[in-house]
Formats: sequence, structure tokens, C-alpha cells
Amino acid sequence: MGVEGLKILITGGAVGIGAGTARLAASRGACVTVSDVNDEAGEALVEEIRAADGKAIYCHADVTDDKAVSDLMFRAADAFGGIDVLHNNAGIHESMLTKELTLETMTRDIFERVMNTNVTGVWLCAKYALPYLRESRSASIINAGSTSSISGYPQCQAYGASKGAVMQLTKMLAVDLAPDGIRVNCYCPGSIHTQIVDKFLEAAPDPELMLNTMTLTHLIPRMGKPVDVAEIVCFLASPESSFVNGAVWTIDGGSLAWRGTNDMLGMEA
Ligand code: NDP
Repeated sequence: MGVEGLKILITGGAVGIGAGTARLAASRGACVTVSDVNDEAGEALVEEIRAADGKAIYCHADVTDDKAVSDLMFRAADAFGGIDVLHNNAGIHESMLTKELTLETMTRDIFERVMNTNVTGVWLCAKYALPYLRESRSASIINAGSTSSISGYPQCQAYGASKGAVMQLTKMLAVDLAPDGIRVNCYCPGSIHTQIVDKFLEAAPDPELMLNTMTLTHLIPRMGKPVDVAEIVCFLASPESSFVNGAVWTIDGGSLAWRGTNDMLGMEA
């Protein structure tokens, strides 16, 4: 039970939430393929997992590149004898690419790069993983959405549009792949402390105000940690969640559950 013995492929898995998931899944007996464009961090992570007796390999792959994605699926399946779980984690925010984030100033190129990585990348990985997932008896795809899949945020036009699309793509794939016995779910994290948040804060006109805003709606008054998300991914990958399909799972400290701020409850981050 759990993820023991499952063959899990994580895109963008070298750092942040992906790395947290790789560590947790490997520590629970999964065979993990860490894939990323950040080779140094990816290789270091795999070394760390192996040093702790975990099973992991690293494969370089840009999720927007057809050939790279196709090769990635082959290499992961070849290394571990198949793929059970595709964790579509790789994602970028426009603030990682530019400081020009308004409708007037952001360029079409930035908008398309975010859509390409966050939406087309998810679709491409699902497409090339499909033949391997069809062979699995515990097949699932787990997509990284965001609270911005559901709610509005300042300076998130491309990212929010892309994450809304990921949520909807999750449901479409859950329907289309149901006859193959492949479950498809997504989870929507709130603010999880990784480099994507640091870059977003750096780009904000008032980083301190933005940081406060990011946690002010949390009923659990802190920023999330990669392991908080990793626990949900491991659950969605496991047989214990075998009746969960097409789901949108929020993991946001409760921020989407209400319309207030935690200072109203006398809570402070
Ligand atoms: P990080 O930026 O910490 O890690 C993402 C990794 O993906 C990086 O190593 C990055 O490499 C890599 N990557 C970027 N583009 C590509 C690509 N084209 N192909 C393969 N790998 C790529 O992100 P997080 O861990 O914070 O986020 C992971 C996922 O969770 C993302 O989809 C994000 O949108 C989502 N999420 C995160 C939240 C948060 O608060 N952190 C909240 C909601 C959702 P490099 O650094 O070299 O670009």
C-alpha cells in the first residue's frame, strides 16, 4: 500500500515541491525518476536519495520538447520496468522571466512561454506517458494546479490562465482515460515556500505587503512547505485513493474556504 513499489516520474523534480515529493516517495519505497532542466540540482537530489537507500534516477528533459519528453518516458520505463504515475509538476511563473507583468507591458512571448510550459508541457507528458501508463495496474496522472486555477491574483495573467487550463485539462483527461483505468487528478497549492515564491516576491512592487497578502487568508497562518504537497501527491498516487478521479484537491491552508483575513480571527503568521 502507499507508494511502495510504484514507479513515479516527476517533471521539474530537481527542486521545490517536485524534490520534496521525490524525497518522500523514495523514502516510502517508490522508484522515482526525477526529471528537470536543472541538471546539477537533479543529479544532487538523486545522489541524496540513493545515499539514503532510495531508488532514483535523473533524466534531463524540457517538458515543452516532444523528442525530449518521448525519450524521457522511454528511459524511465526502461530503468524501472514501466511507469505507474506521472507527476506533472514542472511549471513556471511569468515573474521568473520578466518584471514586466502588467497587461500593457508583458509581451506575447512571455505569455506563450508560460502557457507552453504549464499547459502544453502537461499535455505532452501525458501523451508520451500514455503507452506506459496503459500497461500499469496502478496508473495515474497527477497535475500541479494552483489556487490561481480557481481564484484571482494580481500580476498572474499568464500563470493563472495556465493553471485554470491545467485544472480543466485534468478533468478532460480523467474522462478520456477512464476506459484505460488511468486516474487523473490535480491539486491546487496555496503559497508553498520554494524559489517560485521567492521570485514572485522579488518582482512584487512591495514584497513585504505581498508576503503578508499571501498568508493573510490562510486559516493555518503560515506558508506551506514542499512536504505538505508531497503528502497529497503520495496519497493521490497510492491505491488508497483508488476512488478519487478527476478531482481538484486544494492544499492552501484553508485560504479558498472563506472570504476573510486571519487577523479577523486574532491570528498572526
Ligand atoms: P520551482 O521553480 O521551485 O521548481 C520547478 C522546477 O521545474 C525547476 O527546477 C525548474 O527549472 C523546472 N522547470 C521549469 N521549466 C521546465 C521545463 N520546461 N521542463 C522541465 N523542467 C522545468 O517550482 P515549485 O516547486 O514552487 O512549483 C512546482 C509546481 O507547483 C509548479 O507547477 C508550480 O506552478 C506549482 N505551484 C507552486 C506553488 C508554490 O507556492 N510554490 C503554488 C501553486 C502551484 P529552472 O529553475 O531551471 O527553471
